[in-house]
Formats: sequence, structure tokens, C-alpha cells
Amino acid sequence: MKHVAIIGTSPIMLILANHFCNKKIKVTIFDNSKKIGGAWSYYNFKNNFISTQTNVIVPDNIFEEKNIPIINKYLKKKFSVKISVNKDKFEPLGYLAKTNYEYKLNPIYKKIKNSKKINIKKKFISNIESKNDYVLINKKDKFDKIFIPTYCGIKKIKINKKVYDVSPRLIVSEHVMIIAKKIRVKYLAYSESFDKNFDRAQIKKIKNFNIFTARISKEKKGLNVLKLIKDSNLLYSKNDLVKVVKTKYKNYYRDFKQRNYLNKLAANTNIEYINTALFVESFFSINDKFSLTKQKYKD
Ligand SMILES: Cc1cc2nc3c(=O)[nH]c(=O)nc-3n(C[C@H](O)[C@H](O)[C@H](O)COP(=O)(O)OP(=O)(O)OC[C@H]3O[C@@H](n4cnc5c(N)ncnc54)[C@H](O)[C@@H]3O)c2cc1C
Repeated sequence: MKHVAIIGTSPIMLILANHFCNKKIKVTIFDNSKKIGGAWSYYNFKNNFISTQTNVIVPDNIFEEKNIPIINKYLKKKFSVKISVNKDKFEPLGYLAKTNYEYKLNPIYKKIKNSKKINIKKKFISNIESKNDYVLINKKDKFDKIFIPTYCGIKKIKINKKVYDVSPRLIVSEHVMIIAKKIRVKYLAYSESFDKNFDRAQIKKIKNFNIFTARISKEKKGLNVLKLIKDSNLLYSKNDLVKVVKTKYKNYYRDFKQRNYLNKLAANTNIEYINTALFVESFFSINDKFSLTKQKYKD
């Protein structure tokens, strides 16, 4: 492989881009969004990184919990990611690990953005065609290979002159970020179900400010955010409010059946499907494929 294309700038795809770059492979990343990070994009508040979609790196089972130190070591070594133990309350949907960490992923974004060897192009890839010796993107750009993540917007793929429909389901979620001088609720590492208005919530302190980030619950989508904040009784006083930012995230969702179909279709072609569905699982998946680290897993 001399020159590869990668779709999207979610952290797993950026880790992959960096890995290929270290192997002297030329990398071009395509992302139609001007924000880097995909579902892990962030807001820069006075040089502090706030993940507006409330992102957490958490193990989903005992195997992942035992081996998460491998990920931590890798992120520190390759990107100088700052990792600390998070002792605040943690309420995930499923598995609860004994130790949970907080990650500041901005060094990953900074490294990739500043890399002179990795090119990020703001472009939507609508068309991929696998030929014998190369892959053709949007009917004109040639690459040796393309890597596509789980939640990308590709609708059709052409392999051996046959067109396959791989359309995802578009889901738009709404998220809120509140910066306040004071907040009524206790610090929270993560809660999958916060209250009737918000889920996937996080409350932390950055300098003298309290930061609340959450997803607006399905039933409350489209409603006035200030009214929801009041209804959830998050603040002592409106005067404590410094900033409120509402964001919408477009997720090109694929269920397990669609992911398996994409994976099967791409097998033995120059299109490679990368499982990006959950950070920890995905990291181990790319580690198994591309040997990111030499560390042995604990059973
Ligand atoms: C709101 C939200 C929050 C999440 N939080 C977590 C979390 O905290 N922890 C966790 O483990 N998982 C989380 N997930 C799961 C998450 O989807 C994965 O962790 C990961 O971000 C998926 O990566 P992805 O590249 O498949 O998709 P995304 O993260 O959605 O990134 C896709 C990127 O590619 C771009 N793109 C898509 N299609 C094209 C195209 N055809 N051409 C060009 N560019 C394209 C998009 O603009 C986007 O930037 C979250 C998912 C969502 C939707």
C-alpha cells in the first residue's frame, strides 16, 4: 500500500491514519464536516476541551476492563493523551468497571491536524468502486485502498461492476453544553439516563466553571433548551449561566446486520471495513488487524 484513503475523523480512524503514516504510507482523510472528531467533536472553551457529545472511553466487559491499560499506554505514548482516574459517579448502561478514566483526546486531533504527511480533505464520499489494482472514489480519485468506518454515509459500493446498496439510517441527535458559574447537581463522570429531559450526561469542573453536557432525550428533541434546563432544575440562578450551546449530530447508523453485510462485501477487496462502533472494542479490533502494540492481552 502506498496511498490510502480514510473516511471520517472519528478517533479510531485518526489512530489508524497515524499508524499508517508511521509506516510511511501516504494518507488522505475525507470528512464532509469541517469539525474534526466525528461523534467525538469538541468545543474549545478558553483552551479547554469539552466533548459536546459527552464522550467516554469505557470497557464493556471484564476482558476490556483488564486490557484497557494497553489502550491507555498507547494513547499516552503515541499522542500524549492526558488520562486520569475519574472518581465521580459513573452510571453506564451496561457493564460497570471498577476504575474509570477521563481522557483528554485533543492531542490526537492536534497531531493529525498539524501533520504535514496526513491530508484532510473536506469532501463527502458518495461513490466507491473497487477495481483490480485500485479503488476509485467519487469516480475520479484513485487510491490503493480505502478504509471505511461503521457509521459513514456511503450508500452504494461497486465491486466487479456490480452495485451494492449499503445505505445507513440517518439519526439526528441533539446535545446541549452548559457552562455555568454554579450548578445545582453533583459532579458526574457519566450517566446514561440522567432525568426525563437529558441522558448521556456528564458534569465536571473546568477551572472555576461547571460544565454540563448531555444528550436531549428522544421525547424532548426540538424543544427549547432553556426551558429544559429550568425544568431539570440544573441552576440556582439564571445569572450563573455563562454559555449554552446546542448541537445536532448526524449519525449514519448501521445495525449489526448492516455492519456484517458491509464487512462481508468488502472482504478480499481494496475496501476495508473498520469496526468503529464503540471505542474500546474498536481499538482492540484495529490492534488485532494492524498490530498497533506488541503488548499481550490478559485473559
Ligand atoms: C452522539 C454520539 C456519541 C457517542 N459517544 C460515544 C462514546 O462516548 N463512547 C463510545 O465508545 N462510543 C460513542 N459513540 C459511538 C460512536 O459512534 C463511535 O465511538 C465512533 O465515533 C464511530 O465512529 P465512526 O467513524 O463510525 O462515525 P462518526 O463518529 O459519526 O464519524 C464519522 C465521520 O465521518 C464523516 N463522514 C461520514 N460519512 C462520510 C462520507 N461518506 N464522506 C465523507 N465524510 C463522511 C462524518 O462527517 C463524521 O465526521 C457515540 C455515537 C454518537 C452518535
